[in-house]
Amino acid sequence: GIADLDPVVSDSLLALIALIAADPRDNKIDVGVGVFRDGEGRTPIPASVKEAERRLVESQETKAYLGGWGDRGFTAALRPIVLGPHAGDERIEGVQTPGGCGALFLAARLIKLAKPEAKVLVGTPTWPNHPPVLKGAGLEIVEYRHYDFATRMVDFGALREAATKATPGDVLLLHGCCHNPTGGDFSEAEWREIAAIAKERRLTPLIDIAYQGFGRGFEEDGYGVRVMLDACEEVLIAQSCDKNFGVYRDRVGSFWLKTRDKAATANAMAHVLQIAREAWSMPPDHGAAAARIVLEDAGLRSQWQGEVAAMRDRINTVRRRIADSDQRLGYIANEYGMFSMMPLSPDQVRALRERHAVYMADSGRFNVVGIADRDIDRFCAAVIEAMDE
Ligand code: PMP
Repeated sequence: GIADLDPVVSDSLLALIALIAADPRDNKIDVGVGVFRDGEGRTPIPASVKEAERRLVESQETKAYLGGWGDRGFTAALRPIVLGPHAGDERIEGVQTPGGCGALFLAARLIKLAKPEAKVLVGTPTWPNHPPVLKGAGLEIVEYRHYDFATRMVDFGALREAATKATPGDVLLLHGCCHNPTGGDFSEAEWREIAAIAKERRLTPLIDIAYQGFGRGFEEDGYGVRVMLDACEEVLIAQSCDKNFGVYRDRVGSFWLKTRDKAATANAMAHVLQIAREAWSMPPDHGAAAARIVLEDAGLRSQWQGEVAAMRDRINTVRRRIADSDQRLGYIANEYGMFSMMPLSPDQVRALRERHAVYMADSGRFNVVGIADRDIDRFCAAVIEAMDE
C-alpha cells in the first residue's frame, strides 16, 4: 500500500543540499547546486528579465487559459535562437514546456508512443535525471562512455562504436552544449561526424540544450542542433530557458520536433499536446511571457544578450583560475559550461567537506561558478590539499 512504500533512493545532489543546510560553519562553499552565481555568490534575476516582468504585470489584463501550446509568441521569438538558419523550416514545430524537464518528458513519451522498441543511447556520465525520465516512459537505455576520466576528454570512439551497433530508429541522446556533469563538449568536427553517422545509421537525435549561451556564444553553442538539422529528417530538441534567462523556478522551456514533412510533424505534435494535456494540461505562463517580452524588444534583447555574455565570461574566468592553480587541473580550462569533475575519490570529496566546508557531489562534479570570487583561492588550495593526500 501507499503507506508501505520503500524509501526513495534520492538523487545524491538532494542529499547534499541537506548536508550543507546542517553545517553551521559560515565559510561554506556550495559547488553542488546547479545554478549560476555571480562573483558575489548571488543568483540574480537578469535586469532585462526583471524589466520584462514589470512590463508584464503592468500590461497583463487576464490570466485566462492560453491552451496547450503555451505562449506562441514565446516559441516564435525563441525559434531563431534554437534553430538558427533552420528557423524557416516548416517541418519543425515547437511547443512551450515546463522547463527542460517538461520537454524531455514529452520527447521520451513521444518516442515510446511512436516507436516502442527504440532504444536510447546515453553517454555516461550524464545528468542524473536523464535515465529516470527515459525509463519512466518505458524506454530501454543503452549506455556508452561519453567521457574518459584518464585523458579528461570526450571518448568519441565509444560514441562511434555505440552508434554503429545501434538499430535504425534508435535514439541518440546528446547534450547540445555545456555537458552536465563533465563540461566535455564535442568539437565542431565531431558534431559533423555524429550527424553523418546518425544520417547513415538512421538514428534519431534527441538534443538536450539547457545552457545555450553559457559555453562560447548563442550561435556557437547551437552548432550541434544546426548540423543535426542539416543531416537528419527526424530530430527532437529539448530546450531550457531556465538558466540563460535566470528563471529557474518559473519553469521555462520548449520542445521542438522535425519529421520528414509538415503534415507528419503537425500530426505528431497533436500527440505531443495530448501527452502534455495528461501531465500538465498547459505550461505555466509567467516566465515564458517575460522571456517573450525580452526577445521581442530590441533594447531588452540586447541587454539580455549582454547579461548572458557576462555570465559566460564569469564561467570561463573561474575555469581559467582553477586550471591555473595546478597543472593537474589544467583540463578545466578546455571545457564549457557550469560543470566539471574534479579528479577526487569519494573519500577525498568527504574530506573536503569535513575539513574545508567545500561541498561537491560524491562523483567530484562541481559547479564552476558556485564559488564566489573571494573564495576561489581557498577553494583551489583545499582541492589541491585533497588531491595530494
Ligand atoms: N538538461 C540538463 C542537462 C540539465 O542540466 C537540466 C537542469 N539541471 C535540465 C535539462 C532541465 O532543466 P529545467 O530546470 O529547465 O527543467
